[in-house]
Amino acid sequence: MSQAVAKPIPIPDEITAPFFDGARGGKLMLQHCTGCGKWSFPVRERCPHCFETKLEWRAASGRGTLYTFAIMHQVMNPGFASAVPYNVSQVDLEEGVRMISNVVGVENAALRVGMKLEAVFEDVGDNVSVPKFRVVAG
Ligand SMILES: [Zn+2]
Repeated sequence: MSQAVAKPIPIPDEITAPFFDGARGGKLMLQHCTGCGKWSFPVRERCPHCFETKLEWRAASGRGTLYTFAIMHQVMNPGFASAVPYNVSQVDLEEGVRMISNVVGVENAALRVGMKLEAVFEDVGDNVSVPKFRVVAG
Protein backbone atom coordinates (compact mmCIF):
# COMPACT_ATOMS: atom_id res chain seq x y z
CA MET A 1 0.00 0.00 0.00
CA SER A 2 1.44 3.36 -0.96
CA GLN A 3 0.87 6.58 0.83
CA ALA A 4 1.15 10.01 -0.78
CA VAL A 5 4.10 12.05 0.43
CA ALA A 6 3.58 15.79 0.75
CA LYS A 7 5.76 18.21 -1.19
CA PRO A 8 8.31 20.04 0.93
CA ILE A 9 7.14 23.48 2.05
CA PRO A 10 9.46 26.50 2.35
CA ILE A 11 10.09 27.65 5.91
CA PRO A 12 10.24 31.46 6.06
CA ASP A 13 12.92 32.86 8.35
CA GLU A 14 13.77 36.35 9.58
CA ILE A 15 15.36 37.34 6.28
CA THR A 16 12.83 35.79 3.89
CA ALA A 17 9.65 36.57 5.88
CA PRO A 18 8.76 39.73 3.86
CA PHE A 19 8.92 37.70 0.63
CA PHE A 20 6.57 35.04 1.98
CA ASP A 21 4.30 37.56 3.74
CA GLY A 22 3.92 39.32 0.39
CA ALA A 23 3.22 36.07 -1.45
CA ARG A 24 0.53 35.19 1.07
CA GLY A 25 -1.07 38.56 0.32
CA GLY A 26 -0.80 38.15 -3.45
CA LYS A 27 2.22 40.44 -3.91
CA LEU A 28 5.61 39.63 -5.34
CA MET A 29 8.01 41.34 -2.95
CA LEU A 30 11.64 41.86 -3.92
CA GLN A 31 14.57 43.57 -2.30
CA HIS A 32 15.56 46.95 -3.71
CA CYS A 33 18.92 48.52 -2.87
CA THR A 34 18.87 52.01 -1.35
CA GLY A 35 22.51 52.43 -2.39
CA CYS A 36 22.55 51.66 -6.12
CA GLY A 37 18.83 51.39 -6.87
CA LYS A 38 18.99 47.87 -8.27
CA TRP A 39 16.68 44.96 -7.50
CA SER A 40 17.96 41.61 -6.30
CA PHE A 41 16.80 38.04 -5.93
CA PRO A 42 17.25 35.53 -4.31
CA VAL A 43 16.72 37.13 -0.91
CA ARG A 44 19.99 38.13 0.71
CA GLU A 45 21.48 40.36 3.38
CA ARG A 46 23.63 42.47 1.04
CA CYS A 47 23.13 43.95 -2.39
CA PRO A 48 24.93 41.69 -4.91
CA HIS A 49 25.78 44.77 -7.02
CA CYS A 50 27.30 47.19 -4.49
CA PHE A 51 27.32 45.22 -1.19
CA GLU A 52 25.12 47.80 0.56
CA THR A 53 23.29 46.33 3.55
CA LYS A 54 20.32 48.69 3.33
CA LEU A 55 17.91 46.73 1.19
CA GLU A 56 14.25 47.66 1.29
CA TRP A 57 11.30 45.52 0.32
CA ARG A 58 9.16 46.74 -2.56
CA ALA A 59 6.30 45.19 -4.48
CA ALA A 60 7.47 44.11 -7.91
CA SER A 61 5.29 44.25 -11.02
CA GLY A 62 4.92 40.47 -11.13
CA ARG A 63 5.43 40.65 -14.90
CA GLY A 64 8.20 38.86 -16.76
CA THR A 65 9.18 36.67 -19.65
CA LEU A 66 10.10 33.01 -19.86
CA TYR A 67 13.90 32.85 -20.13
CA THR A 68 14.19 29.07 -20.29
CA PHE A 69 12.63 25.90 -18.87
CA ALA A 70 13.16 22.20 -18.34
CA ILE A 71 10.56 19.46 -18.05
CA MET A 72 11.08 17.21 -15.04
CA HIS A 73 10.15 13.57 -15.68
CA GLN A 74 12.23 12.00 -12.94
CA VAL A 75 10.93 11.93 -9.38
CA MET A 76 13.77 13.41 -7.35
CA ASN A 77 11.56 13.82 -4.26
CA PRO A 78 8.56 11.54 -3.57
CA GLY A 79 6.44 14.62 -2.83
CA PHE A 80 6.51 15.44 -6.53
CA ALA A 81 5.54 11.95 -7.76
CA SER A 82 2.04 13.02 -8.77
CA ALA A 83 3.30 16.22 -10.42
CA VAL A 84 5.61 14.80 -13.10
CA PRO A 85 6.06 15.81 -15.80
CA TYR A 86 6.24 19.42 -14.61
CA ASN A 87 8.19 22.41 -15.79
CA VAL A 88 10.96 24.18 -13.89
CA SER A 89 11.13 27.60 -15.44
CA GLN A 90 13.42 30.58 -15.20
CA VAL A 91 11.52 33.83 -15.45
CA ASP A 92 13.15 37.18 -16.16
CA LEU A 93 11.19 39.76 -14.20
CA GLU A 94 10.73 43.33 -15.43
CA GLU A 95 12.83 44.46 -12.47
CA GLY A 96 15.89 42.73 -13.95
CA VAL A 97 16.11 39.65 -11.74
CA ARG A 98 15.66 36.01 -12.69
CA MET A 99 13.45 33.71 -10.62
CA ILE A 100 13.07 29.94 -10.75
CA SER A 101 9.44 28.81 -10.53
CA ASN A 102 6.83 26.91 -12.50
CA VAL A 103 4.55 28.11 -15.27
CA VAL A 104 1.04 26.94 -14.45
CA GLY A 105 -2.21 26.72 -16.38
CA VAL A 106 -0.57 25.70 -19.66
CA GLU A 107 0.54 22.40 -21.16
CA ASN A 108 4.29 21.90 -20.98
CA ALA A 109 4.35 21.38 -24.76
CA ALA A 110 3.00 24.90 -25.24
CA LEU A 111 5.83 26.60 -23.34
CA ARG A 112 7.94 28.94 -25.45
CA VAL A 113 10.98 30.97 -24.52
CA GLY A 114 10.03 34.65 -24.48
CA MET A 115 6.40 34.11 -23.45
CA LYS A 116 4.93 36.96 -21.42
CA LEU A 117 4.14 35.83 -17.90
CA GLU A 118 2.63 37.20 -14.72
CA ALA A 119 2.90 36.02 -11.14
CA VAL A 120 0.13 34.10 -9.41
CA PHE A 121 0.35 32.75 -5.91
CA GLU A 122 -0.17 29.18 -4.80
CA ASP A 123 -1.02 28.22 -1.24
CA VAL A 124 1.29 25.27 -0.53
CA GLY A 125 0.14 24.70 3.06
CA ASP A 126 1.32 25.68 6.54
CA ASN A 127 0.18 29.24 5.78
CA VAL A 128 2.86 29.55 3.08
CA SER A 129 2.29 30.75 -0.48
CA VAL A 130 4.80 30.75 -3.31
CA PRO A 131 4.85 32.61 -6.61
CA LYS A 132 4.13 30.71 -9.79
CA PHE A 133 3.62 32.20 -13.25
CA ARG A 134 0.87 32.06 -15.83
CA VAL A 135 0.89 33.01 -19.46
CA VAL A 136 -0.43 36.45 -20.32
CA ALA A 137 -2.55 36.52 -23.46
CA GLY A 138 -1.24 38.65 -26.31
ZN1 LIG B 1 23.25 48.08 -4.39
